[in-house]
Amino acid sequence: MILVLSPDATPDQIEHILEHVRQSGFTPFPVKGEFRTIIGAIGDDTNPAAESFRVLPGVEQVLMILKPFKLASREFHKADSVIEVGPTKIGGGHLAVIAGPCAVENEETLDSIAARVKQAGANILRGGAFKPRTSPYSFQGLGEDGLRLLRAVGDRYQLPVVTEVMDTRQVELVNRYADMLQIGARNMQNFELLKEVGQTNKPVLLKRGMSATVKDLLMSAEYILAGGNNQVVLCERGVRGFEDSTRNMLDLAAVPNIKGQSHLPVIVDPSHATGRPDLIPPMARAAVAAGADGIHIEVHTCPEKALSDGPQALLPDQFDALMRDVQGLAKFFHKVLS
Ligand code: PEP
Ligand code: MN
Repeated sequence: MILVLSPDATPDQIEHILEHVRQSGFTPFPVKGEFRTIIGAIGDDTNPAAESFRVLPGVEQVLMILKPFKLASREFHKADSVIEVGPTKIGGGHLAVIAGPCAVENEETLDSIAARVKQAGANILRGGAFKPRTSPYSFQGLGEDGLRLLRAVGDRYQLPVVTEVMDTRQVELVNRYADMLQIGARNMQNFELLKEVGQTNKPVLLKRGMSATVKDLLMSAEYILAGGNNQVVLCERGVRGFEDSTRNMLDLAAVPNIKGQSHLPVIVDPSHATGRPDLIPPMARAAVAAGADGIHIEVHTCPEKALSDGPQALLPDQFDALMRDVQGLAKFFHKVLS
């Protein structure tokens, strides 16, 4: 439920409310607004102690959130959340362009890709050091060496970096190197992993599972938020369908669908959604037009030699052309790309 405090609630009253909420078996999540504070109280809404919240001094209103996700809901937080990844902002009119290779392979390749995506206007560098591969015989990533390279190259080009964490045992390590932690589609419902990243203070890029509904995605975000980490960015990356000429089926309606229900930023990954370089630019443009807060694109200087997802990588020149369009669209839709 949400406790809406009166605009003139005093700091002492707020402290007392928080204490009472805690003692009643709920976890309070206060949000200080410009005019008033609201407190999300997470717990069993049928708990009779909840009734007492209405009469606490400083409480103006108690609202029930009917949706199963609470902290992720628009009811809890009306305005769009803006998530900061280093100097890059995502959401609330700020557009993220996350670009880079599928996997970190070696310094030279990563450096040449980073130089080109930076020049084209990307504002976050991506690259996997721990790769969730379908086959155990495929390249699994460079591990910590890959994280070290990603950090060094990101710093060289002043790009914050995002990379995937696949397992609870990797969270501490990845957290040491990355500016943003990616939870991949295959791990969207790895609840222990969600709880673990919920304990960190790093923004999390949560990708939609390939057979997950929008509600499932928002429930997974709720795990991270409930752990105390309120920096979550959602990513639509296509779901499994019957169409076999594309890698997945891009659910573009998920963008306005999620944004209607949640304050969290939503970005689109047309690379994994389509798996085809000819379809990535039109779907990236459509994503921006649909109101996405960013795009996530795989780029490689030599796709035929890439150790992972080469066939879907855009060449730097193709990425340049896409970025010219994205910049025009950003202007048209009054979005900031910085
Ligand atoms: C990736 O971003 O490299 C990736 C593996 O994506 P997904 O989890 O969406 O398949
Ligand atoms: Mn990939």
